[in-house]
Amino acid sequence: MVQRSTQTACRQCGICCRSGGAALHHADIALLEQGVIPRRDLVTIRKGEFAHNPVSRKVQPTMEEIVKLRGKGRGWECCYYEPVSKGCSIYGTRPLACSTLKCWAPSESLKLVETDLLSRIGILGTDSATILLISEHDGYCPLPDFKNLGYNLDCRESETLKRLDKSVNGDIAFRNHAVTISGMVLEDEMFLFGRPLFQMLHPFGLDIVQDGMVLSVRINRNRKRGAGEKYRD
Ligand code: SF4
Ligand code: SF4
Repeated sequence: MVQRSTQTACRQCGICCRSGGAALHHADIALLEQGVIPRRDLVTIRKGEFAHNPVSRKVQPTMEEIVKLRGKGRGWECCYYEPVSKGCSIYGTRPLACSTLKCWAPSESLKLVETDLLSRIGILGTDSATILLISEHDGYCPLPDFKNLGYNLDCRESETLKRLDKSVNGDIAFRNHAVTISGMVLEDEMFLFGRPLFQMLHPFGLDIVQDGMVLSVRINRNRKRGAGEKYRD
């Protein structure tokens, strides 16, 4: 027999906020302009990066760039979530995706998924020097072909690992260079360039080994590949 949910209001369990910070939409631009949400509290999921899609309920490549509230440390729990009180430190000014979410009746919030999203360029507006820096990073450090990564590792292991080594180290070098020469503030890095590539490889059964300043990508043959990180859009 199908069990029907009897929930009609938020129970403040915090599960949604612990699963990941919300994606930002055009309706949220004033929160950024007024400094309620500073850039240092944002992280960009670049187009094509793997993310959990609440509509398909699958981890899949994103069709659009997503700028969302960052997590705490390496985790995805929203930076504004207060675990002791199970509350939100910006509750009165929380983004659209948060005020719309009703986990017991999700149809309205599902309509927001990958719709009317704020992008880095939408947020930066006329800051052309920073937009140029982002476009240089996107050109210099494109995302790997995540969709075919498993296949390429199976069929062309050594060549694929070599290419990943180059991309991972190029990405880090670009970020260091940007901080040194452009006046980019380090705390804006996750917003401007998204997560470093080396952080995205773990779900594909890959480990990173560091030797001095150089990173190498290795296959972890003890770990199942392709589970993907799960976090909320
Ligand atoms: S919306 Fe749902 S998951 Fe989120 S805090 Fe409320 S009851 Fe929990
Ligand atoms: S902003 Fe507040 S309501 Fe929204 S995900 Fe973060 S803690 Fe939860």
